Amino acid sequence: LMQLSIPLNFIGSIYREIRQGLTDIEAMFDLLAVKAEVEDRPNALPLTVSEGTIRFENVRFGYDPDREILKGVSFEVPAGKSIAIVGPSGAGKSTISRLLFRFYDIGSGRITIDGQDISHVTQESVRAAIGIVPQDTVLFNDTIAYNIRYGRTNASETEVHRAADLAQIGDFIRSLPAGFKSMVGERGLKLSGGEKQRVAVARTILKAPPILVLDEATSALDTHTEKDIQSALDLVSKDRTTLTIAHRLSTVIGADEIIVLKAGEIVERGSHRELLGMDGLYAEMWTMQREATEAEEALRRAREAD
Ligand code: ATP
Repeated sequence: LMQLSIPLNFIGSIYREIRQGLTDIEAMFDLLAVKAEVEDRPNALPLTVSEGTIRFENVRFGYDPDREILKGVSFEVPAGKSIAIVGPSGAGKSTISRLLFRFYDIGSGRITIDGQDISHVTQESVRAAIGIVPQDTVLFNDTIAYNIRYGRTNASETEVHRAADLAQIGDFIRSLPAGFKSMVGERGLKLSGGEKQRVAVARTILKAPPILVLDEATSALDTHTEKDIQSALDLVSKDRTTLTIAHRLSTVIGADEIIVLKAGEIVERGSHRELLGMDGLYAEMWTMQREATEAEEALRRAREAD
């Protein structure tokens, strides 16, 4: 029995090693909802980004043919501007970011970057032009430096450190016993959601893409962490075409335009002030979220008083 169990254990651990490696990639792909169903046209040319203007023109899309998720969505993110998409859960907000990455082909309409239809150019060139700070960053089982450098593999050590500082995580990393050489991921140091997101911001700062997609964390972060992350995000999105998929409203106030999506249709659009003035869905969501935040604060204060 001994003889049998040793090799089995051994195989088990090799298996786990391989699984772990695969998990990173799987999780990464899963996160981005990559599907192999989109193919480049034969002779597709790469996208040439001049200024980074994004346009959605009457875009219709459904994951399944019998259920349309986006029902004719049109908007523009002018070069260097910041647009936020808000709306109830299931409205189709994250779907918009997936379509911009061309993880799916749309039913009808057009999505363009600097006037080029993204379904006519190579997928690789589209993805290279866009940096994403996802809801939940997957870290590789490697050093924290490796995880940041992933944004641009030829970045120097100084550049990696600078990116970490800009993302407001440099001091935290330096306080770790092994500093930038600390192992992270499943088998290393477990980082909090906010720390992981700042690693993603540092990665994106290194990549310096012309277009940025911020898929905001759904999970509530504490106010302090949220402020830190927000200032890091503000920094990376400055002068970049930015599309924010917002699940919380507190972070969209400064956007150049806010688009309110409901059941796959744009129902309101404008600045924060304009939308509040309309007294419609946005105003209602704003009041609800404010009440929820106040209730949370009251609860926290009550707990602290105990
Ligand atoms: P939330 O704020 O809850 O994240 P959302 O507005 O980002 O919501 P989406 O993730 O875009 O919503 O989803 C829109 C609709 O599409 C939902 O009804 C969802 O069930 C459906 N959907 C999302 N992904 C898929 C998929 N891969 N296959 C089929 N349906 C999907």
